[in-house]
Amino acid sequence: MSTITSILLKDALDRDDIITLLGADNPTDIELIRLTAEKIMRDKCGPDVFYRGLIEFSNHCICDCYYCGIRKSNAAVNRYILPKDDIAASAKWCADQGYGSVVLQSGERRDEAFIDFLADVIAEIKSSTTSEKMPDGVGITLSVGEQSPETYKRLYDAGAHRYLLRIESSNPHLFASIHPPAQDQQTRIDCLKSLRDTGFQVGTGVMTGIPGQTVADLADDVLFFRDMDVDMIGMGPYIVHKATPMNIYYDYYNYAKDEIFQTALLMIAVCRIVLGDVNIASTTALQAMRDNGREEGLRYGANVIMPQTTPVNVRRDYLLYEGKPCLDEDVRHCRTCLEKRIHSIGRKIAVDVWGDSKRALRRQC
Ligand code: SAM
Repeated sequence: MSTITSILLKDALDRDDIITLLGADNPTDIELIRLTAEKIMRDKCGPDVFYRGLIEFSNHCICDCYYCGIRKSNAAVNRYILPKDDIAASAKWCADQGYGSVVLQSGERRDEAFIDFLADVIAEIKSSTTSEKMPDGVGITLSVGEQSPETYKRLYDAGAHRYLLRIESSNPHLFASIHPPAQDQQTRIDCLKSLRDTGFQVGTGVMTGIPGQTVADLADDVLFFRDMDVDMIGMGPYIVHKATPMNIYYDYYNYAKDEIFQTALLMIAVCRIVLGDVNIASTTALQAMRDNGREEGLRYGANVIMPQTTPVNVRRDYLLYEGKPCLDEDVRHCRTCLEKRIHSIGRKIAVDVWGDSKRALRRQC
């Protein structure tokens, strides 16, 4: 029996097992890991793919993450915040299409005016998307960064019920190497705990392919997700943006990108194997690297997709990295294109449901 097979037959994996799986580099081993993850996903979550319409509602940001295209020091970015009515209209469009949930994502702001604005938007989306099919309106996931416990409570009370905050890397040194000193990893961990205490379903994730990252770091990331008992995971490859301090890694990135892509897929599979019934997103960054990247993510055990529903006129201003797909496509085109892609791999799209993870539902019982 091969080492990979014997690991996959175990009930619980330790750190060394996870390192071995993430380091798999021959096609037979990789396919074995993928098939195991896919089976666990079907057994524990079912075949459905859950949609969250992604609305990138603002690119104003007070943070200066070294990797991110909308960091505050990038003076070339045309800053915007969508009007309340436009955000609500995008969410309503999602609800009308049967997308049971939306993700409201933005750069980071913590000022009162922004939080008031966001709380109003959440309440407006909730009231305008209630219907017979969805009496409580669409499910709302937030991705607006580090906030105070009071702000988290306010946004939860306004009607949002899921929150994504990536740890980016669980290794404190690696985290420090991609953020300015004022951005502290412990603050992020405290925020994740505060989100859980507030009542949110909590999601986190990392970037795969950060320069200097090892397979052992990634294994520790998986263990971090397990120990934090998260409900959702949203991870993706790191992709260089030319107007960031990390543009010095262009050559490294070009050289390593096939490996980064494959490791990002293996991370999805290993998270599925270790964490079981969490929701795992197949993120847009995968599609930025390969045209079929998001389908591949689903094949490796992901069960959530975030179709692009940001109005086309601002999409180019929310460039986190280079090669972002679907910049000009009309939302209707994005919808049919994705549908075809998902059906092509034998999966089906869940309609008019929030699509909470089984783990989150179990926690509520
Ligand atoms: N400000 C919020 C936060 O930090 O959670 C939400 C917006 S932030 C732009 C969303 C995510 O984009 C980050 O967590 C990060 O992992 C990802 N991201 C930013 N720049 C990236 C890059 N160059 N490559 C891949 N992912 C990137």
